Amino acid sequence: MRFDILTIFPHIFDSYLNESILKRAQQKKIIEIHIHDIRPFSQDKHKKVDDLPFGGGAGMVMTPQPLYDAIKHVKNLNKGAVIYFSPKGEVLNQIKAEKLAKLENLKIKSKRGLILVCGRYEGIDQRIIDLLVDEEISVGKYVLTGGELPAMTLIDAISRLIPGVLGRNESHEEDSFSKSLKRKKEYPHYTRPAVFKEMKVPDVLTSGNHKNINSWKTAETS
Ligand code: SAH
Repeated sequence: MRFDILTIFPHIFDSYLNESILKRAQQKKIIEIHIHDIRPFSQDKHKKVDDLPFGGGAGMVMTPQPLYDAIKHVKNLNKGAVIYFSPKGEVLNQIKAEKLAKLENLKIKSKRGLILVCGRYEGIDQRIIDLLVDEEISVGKYVLTGGELPAMTLIDAISRLIPGVLGRNESHEEDSFSKSLKRKKEYPHYTRPAVFKEMKVPDVLTSGNHKNINSWKTAETS
């Protein structure tokens, strides 16, 4: 899976994507992440990427020209669907992440990747959404300062579902909201020590009786 991210703050991605599981997934070439700075695409002499909103109101709006040229450029590299992060979009959930991991249910046929557009300020000029965006995705009913955290959230949620990304002991099959847990919340976890701050791990978990352990897990799944 290839992800191309468009942002005016490319360095935001330096740490998160280059640690742990996502780093390993890139080394294994299961996922590829390319970050593109939108600003160099600006034809403005000061490389401006925002302007005042028509009709007035607070804040700035990302201008269409740099975004248009940046998205067109990236579309030549990645024939994937264009996703714009917006609080107004379809709220991301596990089912949506599973579909995206298989590049299913997209408005356009996506061959092997996704193009992720991160907004800033009040957002981007609506004409970019109308002309070039295939899907608008929200990470929740609240407002962030930019689409960069949503982009990392989406890449993380999708990548861990792609075969080979998680190791043997890190399976996602029985995580919260998975199909095998009937989309419910997972049971609680305990590890050593068996007693901590006078609190004992449920007896059944140390009983060695797998039938009872499984019944406990099912009962504790909500
Ligand atoms: N004026 C907009 C909010 C802009 S927030 C509104 O009221 O809807 C600035 C940018 O952050 C957005 O363009 C978007 O890319 C990103 N963003 C903020 N909250 C988000 C959320 N919940 N989900 C996805 N992206 C979000």
